[in-house]
Amino acid sequence: RNVIHRICSGQVILDLSSAVKELVENSLDAGATSIEINLRDYGEDYFQVIDNGCGISPTNFKVLALKHHTSKLEDFTDLLNLTTYGFRGEALSSLCALGNLTVETRTKNEPVATLLTFDHSGLLTAEKKTARQIGTTVTVRKLFSNLPVRSKEFKRNIRKEYGKLVSLLNAYALIAKGVRFVCSNTTGKNPKSVVLNTQGRGSLKDNIITVFGISTFTSLQPVSICVSEDCRVEGFLSKPGQGTGRNLADRQYFFINGRPVDMPKVSKLVNELYKDTSSRKYPVTILEFIVPGGACDLNVTPDKRKVFFSDETSVIGSLREGLNEIYSSSNA
Ligand code: ADP
Ligand code: MG
Repeated sequence: RNVIHRICSGQVILDLSSAVKELVENSLDAGATSIEINLRDYGEDYFQVIDNGCGISPTNFKVLALKHHTSKLEDFTDLLNLTTYGFRGEALSSLCALGNLTVETRTKNEPVATLLTFDHSGLLTAEKKTARQIGTTVTVRKLFSNLPVRSKEFKRNIRKEYGKLVSLLNAYALIAKGVRFVCSNTTGKNPKSVVLNTQGRGSLKDNIITVFGISTFTSLQPVSICVSEDCRVEGFLSKPGQGTGRNLADRQYFFINGRPVDMPKVSKLVNELYKDTSSRKYPVTILEFIVPGGACDLNVTPDKRKVFFSDETSVIGSLREGLNEIYSSSNA
C-alpha cells in the first residue's frame, strides 16, 4: 500500500520546482504577504517555505498530511473559478511519502507555535511546542531519498532543477500583488546566497523592475490585446531589436488570471513573430491572459501547469494579428 502511495505521490511531485510550487501555493492560499524559500544544497539536502499566513489550527494537526485531507473546498471543476490554488489535499501527503516532512505553525489563537513531525505514511509522529510568529514553516528533507532511481536523477540534475525553481519563483514574484518573496540557497560553508528578493509593491511594472531591473523594463513595450470577446492579453514584450539571447525559460512568463502557467504555443508564436524584427534574439515576454469570471474553456495537465484553450486556433490567430500590429507600429 505504501509503495502505491509512493508511486502516486511521484506524479504530483515530479521534481524540486513542483514540490516548492505546492508549498508556495499553500502559503498564498493561507493569505501570506511574506514568503521566504530557503534551500540547502540547491534543495538536495532540504527546502523550506516560511510564511506569515493564517497558520494551521491544532484540530488539523493529525489529519494534515493524510491523503485527500484539505481544508479547502473540493468541488472545483473550473480552474478559472478557483479562488485558492490547492484543492486536492495531495501535496503534503505526497511530500511525506517522498521525503521527511516537518511543519511549524501557529495561528492567531495560539500563544506558541507547534513543531509537527510526520512519517512517510503521513502519520503525525511527534508534536512539540516551539517559538514562532503567526504563520507556517514547512520543511522537506531528503526529497526522493526513498526512491533510488528518482533520487539519483534528482541529484544529477540538481542545478537544472534549481534553475527551474528560480524561474518559477520569479513568475510568482512578477504576478503576486502585495506579497514579498525571498529565496536563498546555502551550499557548504559558503554564506547564504539570495537569488530573489522582492518587496511585493504591487503593479506588474513595479514587480518587473524589482525582479529584472530597470534596464530590462525600459527595453519592454506594453501589450494590450483583445483576443476574444471574453479574453484580454496584457503585459510586456521586448521592443524590436532589444530581445534577449539568454535562456528563454528565464525570460518568458505566462499567466492566466494571476496563475503562472506554461503556454508552449503562445511562446512559439511570440518567438516566431519576433524573429522577423530581430535576428537571433528572443523577446522577453510577460503576458497575462485575463478571463473575467472564467468565461473561457481550458484544458489543463495534471500538474496544473500546461494550459490549452479549447478554441486555441482562434485565440492564437487573434494574438498573432494583435502582435503583428504592435510590431509594425513600433518599427515605423
Ligand atoms: P490542499 O492545498 O489541496 O488543501 P495540501 O496537501 O497542499 O492540500 O495541504 C493540506 C492542508 O494543510 C490545506 O488544506 C491547509 O489546511 C493546510 N496547509 C498546508 N500548508 C499551509 C500553510 N502554509 N498555511 C496554512 N495552512 C496550510
Ligand atoms: Mg496545497
